[in-house]
Amino acid sequence: MSVPQTHTGRVAVITGAGRGIGQALALGLAARGATVVAVDLHYPEETMALLTAAGHTGMGLVADVSDPVQTAAVGMRITQEFGHADILVNNAGVFPFVDIDDLDYDIWRRIMAVNLDSQFLMVKAVLPAMKAGGWGRIINLTSNSIVTNAPGLSHYMASKMGNIGFSRGLANDVAPFGITVNAVGPTLTITPGVREVHPPEALVAVAQAQAIKRNGRPEDLVGTIAFLSSDDAAFVTGQTIMADGGYAR
Ligand code: ADP
Repeated sequence: MSVPQTHTGRVAVITGAGRGIGQALALGLAARGATVVAVDLHYPEETMALLTAAGHTGMGLVADVSDPVQTAAVGMRITQEFGHADILVNNAGVFPFVDIDDLDYDIWRRIMAVNLDSQFLMVKAVLPAMKAGGWGRIINLTSNSIVTNAPGLSHYMASKMGNIGFSRGLANDVAPFGITVNAVGPTLTITPGVREVHPPEALVAVAQAQAIKRNGRPEDLVGTIAFLSSDDAAFVTGQTIMADGGYAR
C-alpha cells in the first residue's frame, strides 16, 4: 500500500524512539517522507536498522531527555546537521506503579523529570531550529490514564496532566511562528515497557474499559500523530486528542 508523502522534506525529532510507540512513530513518519531523528537513552539500533531496511534516511542520537545539557546538545546537533527542525514528538516516558506510601520525593522528581521536564527541555533545545524553518509541529504525549481509577499512579497522572497544560500554554507562545502544539494520549499499549510493569489481567481490564475492546498497539498512534504533524492540521492547536480506543471520555 502506498502511503501519501505528506511529510516530504520535514525533519522529525522523536524521543524515546528506540522501541515501543516511539519506534512505530519513527517508522510511520519516515514512511510519509520525513527524515527522522530518533533520540533515546541508548543508541536506537533496532529503529535505525528498520528505517534503513525500509529505505529511509535518518539519524540516531543518544540522550537522556531529562538532562538539560544532553537535550541542548541534541538541539545543536540537529541545527548542525539539518539547519532546521520541523516536527518534535515528545514521546519518551516512564510509568512505574508506586503507591503513595512508597512514593518518596526522589521517585516523584524522577517521574516529573522524565515525563514532564523532558518535554520542556526538548522544546527549548529544538525551538530555535524550528523557528528557523518558519513552520513547526510539536506533539507532546500524554496518557488516557489521567482519568483512570487504578491506584499507584498519582505521580504519573500529575506528570501526564502537566503534558496537557504545557501543550495548551505553549500553543499560545509559538503560534506567531507557524508552530502548533497538541497533546496526544495513548491507551495502555502493548510495548516492551508496558509488559515490564503490567500483569496480563491489567491489560484485559483496560481493554474492557475502552469502547474498542482490544489493547492498543504502537501503530495505533501513527495516524493521529501523522495528521497533527502535517500541513492539514495547520489550524489545530492547544488540543488534546486521546487515540485510546474510546477509554477517556
Ligand atoms: P512506551 O512505548 O509504551 O512509551 P517503552 O518503555 O517501550 O514504552 O518505550 C519508551 C522509550 O523511551 C524507551 O526506548 C526508553 O529507552 C525511552 N526513554 C525512557 N526514558 C528516557 C529518557 N530519560 N531519555 C530518553 N529516552 C528515554
